[in-house]
Amino acid sequence: MLKGKTALVTGSTSGIGLGIALALARQGARVVLNGFGDVDAAKAEVAALGVEVGYHGADMSKPAEIADMMALAERDFGGVDVLVNNAGIQHVARVEDFPPEKWDAILAINLSSAFHTTRLALPGMRRKDWGRVLNVASTHGLVASAEKSAYVAAKHGIVGFTKTVALETATTGVTVNAICPGWVLTPLVQKQIDARAAAGGLSDADAKKQLLGEKQPSLQFTTPEQLGELAIFLCSSAADNVRGVAWQMDGGWTAQ
Ligand code: NAD
Repeated sequence: MLKGKTALVTGSTSGIGLGIALALARQGARVVLNGFGDVDAAKAEVAALGVEVGYHGADMSKPAEIADMMALAERDFGGVDVLVNNAGIQHVARVEDFPPEKWDAILAINLSSAFHTTRLALPGMRRKDWGRVLNVASTHGLVASAEKSAYVAAKHGIVGFTKTVALETATTGVTVNAICPGWVLTPLVQKQIDARAAAGGLSDADAKKQLLGEKQPSLQFTTPEQLGELAIFLCSSAADNVRGVAWQMDGGWTAQ
């Protein structure tokens, strides 16, 4: 379905981003990866699917590095057809204890980076009259939780950004949508499980049960593979007229 197309997924060396990158590669897309950590393992996993793989180590809090990454995609991969704005970080603290530098980093990485990638990807998508922008928001783009002020503000922001750009492209072959996962068992969430286990003297399994029980009625984690399948649907022609949605995959979290 995506043969001949290039997908760029930010924050795709781990977790949800890697799951979406793998799903897009399975559909034949060339993939440009981004993120920190075990880059070689992520590249090898995608390359094993028989597609061309690129990588750029841009820090998503740095607009100049983002511009350099987008230039690489243009120069070496013919531009970005599927842009997945996924990179994200978390910090948990009450607002009066929230370090200002963490607030700035979360807003830059979880929200502003999507503005910088999108504004640079859109001209090429418009020229081809086809494109997909998928913003990985969160249930926290729709509802709040205590002690996550920066994350909730950034995720609500990216849902608003998604709707605006969807309107600006509404008569074109470019669609812009957000995905809103509930709990997904990735390093970002494992840190919160570890903190909960340490604070409550709980086992890892009990901390997971407690975490899910508070918010996610299915009591099941959403998986990166399921989110990858949702991304494929949003890239398909069946989704040509899906525009500006914030699509939950959250085990019922936001139905409550
Ligand atoms: P993760 O920690 O597994 O992956 C985050 C990725 O972002 C990694 O590849 C990391 O290297 C990259 N990254 C972090 N800072 C970066 C920076 N400054 N520049 C470039 N790359 C950077 O986390 P995840 O859970 O897979 O999260 C991915 C996205 O999904 C985030 O936007 C997160 O907010 C969102 N999300 C996660 C959950 C969940 O339960 N895990 C739920 C809803 C939304």
